[in-house]
Amino acid sequence: MSDAYDHERSVALDAVRAAATLCQSVRATMDGNVLEKDDRTPVTVADFGSQALVCEALHSAFPDDPVTGEEDASALRADANAAVRTRVVDQVRAHHPDATPEDVFGWIDHGTARDYADRYWTIDPIDGTKGFVRGDQYAIALALVVDGVPQVAALGCPYLPPTLNFDDPASRGQVFLAERGEGTTQLPVDPHDEAEARSVHTSDTTEPAQSRFTESFVSSHSSRGLAAAAGERLGITEAPLRIDSQCKYAVVARGDAEIYLRLPRPGTDYTERIWDHAAGALVVEAAGGTVTDMHGEPLDFTHGPLLEANTGVVATNGPLHDRVIDALRAAEQADS
Ligand code: AMP
Ligand code: MG
Repeated sequence: MSDAYDHERSVALDAVRAAATLCQSVRATMDGNVLEKDDRTPVTVADFGSQALVCEALHSAFPDDPVTGEEDASALRADANAAVRTRVVDQVRAHHPDATPEDVFGWIDHGTARDYADRYWTIDPIDGTKGFVRGDQYAIALALVVDGVPQVAALGCPYLPPTLNFDDPASRGQVFLAERGEGTTQLPVDPHDEAEARSVHTSDTTEPAQSRFTESFVSSHSSRGLAAAAGERLGITEAPLRIDSQCKYAVVARGDAEIYLRLPRPGTDYTERIWDHAAGALVVEAAGGTVTDMHGEPLDFTHGPLLEANTGVVATNGPLHDRVIDALRAAEQADS
């Protein structure tokens, strides 16, 4: 890797590793009871704690960089949430023993920038909250965007195994560290396992019929109908890999799937959020893949928190990209 963003890469990696460890710790305290009640407290605690750790690290290393994060501390300040506040502060203190509640609020609120800047960070402290609560995949997604283009990304996947063998619970927890033009590396969340770091690449498949796509586990987040129609045109027979969060980008980056489709459902006009894509898109691109919106346009990170100029997102291994965009266009036209 070049040394242009050496410091940014190392700060991002450490911050996301710490946040991933906090999320793992919070989830370890969840029991079946929580899942049954669909109690959202754990995800709330982990969301706030994760954003606090990442923003503290960014503020101390790059005090002038604005941070556009998903959360703010207003709910945490309310007296009604004193119990949650205590749990958040306790979790953060495992990393910063002297942190006060005011420190934690300040760190979280450091991530509330909303205006576009030439250089900014964006953080989703827990992407895939439904996966987190269900006991499935979730992610911590951090990216540095310069002149509207993600340049550095650290994508934490605290429950993802090192390969697609989901039956191997022993070594879950990966971080995907990427710099534009410089590759993507998969490292374990636990820095003591540093030896296992490996460079990842998208699949080199050029035959659409031999490819596989990945899509949201939550059916309301993407049009499965349009994905299936495009898949049929491409001759894809394998069932889609349905997982929560930007872990979908990670599995495309390391070649477990060739195509990630995120398509607006008919009759809806959902606008994608930058923190749901900036880190993941760079992780795929630096690993050799291509990412555009569903019409083949580049993702435009110059509009504040929303991808206002884009519709849907398509990430592929690279060689298949144009054919996937063509298949989507044809499937849409056939449907209209
Ligand atoms: P995933 O786990 O990939 O399905 O996506 C989780 C993300 O979907 C969350 O972080 C939300 O920001 C985002 N989201 C929420 N509602 C929608 C929607 N209607 N369409 C697409 N994405 C959504
Ligand atoms: Mg998200």
